[in-house]
Amino acid sequence: MRRFRFDDPGFRAAFTSFVAERRDTPEEVDALVRDVLAAVRSEGLDALLRYAREFDRIELTEATMRVSSEEIADGAAACPADVRDAISFAAARIRSYHERQRPADQRFTDASGVELGWRWTPLEAVGIYVPGGRAAYPSTVLMNAVPASAAGVERIAMVTPPGRLQPAVLAAAQVAGVTEIWRVGGAQAVAALAYGAGPIRPVDKIVGPGNAFVTAAKRRVYGTVGIDALAGPSEIVVVADGQNDPEWIAADLLSQAEHDPAAQSILITDDADFARRVEQAVDRQLAALSTGEDARASWRDHGAVVIAPLDEAPGLVDEIAPEHVEFALDEPERLADRVRHAGAIFLGRHAPEAVGDYVAGSNHVLPTSRAARFSSGLSLYDFIKRTSIVKCDAESFAALAPATIALAEAEGLPAHARSAAIRLGQGRPPQS
Ligand code: NAD
Repeated sequence: MRRFRFDDPGFRAAFTSFVAERRDTPEEVDALVRDVLAAVRSEGLDALLRYAREFDRIELTEATMRVSSEEIADGAAACPADVRDAISFAAARIRSYHERQRPADQRFTDASGVELGWRWTPLEAVGIYVPGGRAAYPSTVLMNAVPASAAGVERIAMVTPPGRLQPAVLAAAQVAGVTEIWRVGGAQAVAALAYGAGPIRPVDKIVGPGNAFVTAAKRRVYGTVGIDALAGPSEIVVVADGQNDPEWIAADLLSQAEHDPAAQSILITDDADFARRVEQAVDRQLAALSTGEDARASWRDHGAVVIAPLDEAPGLVDEIAPEHVEFALDEPERLADRVRHAGAIFLGRHAPEAVGDYVAGSNHVLPTSRAARFSSGLSLYDFIKRTSIVKCDAESFAALAPATIALAEAEGLPAHARSAAIRLGQGRPPQS
């Protein structure tokens, strides 16, 4: 864990180089992923079954690759009632939040009499990658599938590595409106969704987190299909004054650190004594945490405590451009409103980031690795697209034609020019 003091002469350079440090270790997976994509594209189902054997050590058939509706219903029913209730509670809140994002269609007539506008339509088919193993989270299913369903996407195909499907994941899929589930993971799952393979029909966009193979495959299929952002390790910045309970703030810092040894948690406070008590609380809580190994590595290698005047916090947050930032203060907006770069902002002493991970309603798929400078979290907008509309009658067309012809001629595109001129009764080719 690094300690910084804003009033140290070397602070600026040290902090800037700390923020720029790479946390994810680039893995050499791209060549393998290229081969996997090519094999699925040319061999389809055979390649999927072969890779399940090779990478997942599971014998599948075309029939067992699909998770049947009975399996989904039975699995969901096996989910403990309190977890099922929590999933339904979360899903309803996520749906309601994302439905408010739906933008309006527009149609208007401009001063030239040209009718213009745009309309929004949902994507037809979306694929959702849900990681396997320890990272098989129902919240991942909800955060990716519910916005798609709220947008009106008809087909939501979920893929997840073969193995035991957790009841809570199946319950979440059912509640979120997932329409089909396939036992296929890794780069081969991304290939199947992008190109189609055996019984899996291609989709239009693939979203969802995964390991290095999944991420490299998403990067490669972009263009054939759309993808969401490429997720990196989690991040949290907590801006807190000395009035907070150090145990609360320590818990918030560890809530991200436990995700991944490469995750990053940073405390910014103006109270050095409070910072020391938070550090002690982190150590105490780490000792009792079942995820302590990852959390300890994250806090040790990437954590930081910055002692700075609170008025400097917005500037420091912008430099970090974190995935999440909490302002644990009495009047959080005073500082938070000055932040420009953050995936999600949590305001007040009772808004821990964990509520945003599950039930607040906002999306937990957020930009990492400073991508908050230019991008936003997953939303309804990821599952809709805009088509522009132009309507002219003879009169309004006449207002647009001369400039159309002039620009087409300047660009050396005579057919473009003619397409306008011919409607003005000019440029008709000689009849044979
Ligand atoms: P995964 O589903 O991403 O990957 C498993 C698949 O990878 C396997 O099915 C296999 O096909 C493939 N694979 C594994 N080893 C391979 C090899 N040597 N060669 C080729 N293919 C291979 O599951 P995971 O590995 O447990 O990783 C989960 C990832 O998802 C983690 O990185 C985790 O941090 C991330 N995650 C992120 C979020 C989030 O919201 N950001 C949520 C959950 C998980």
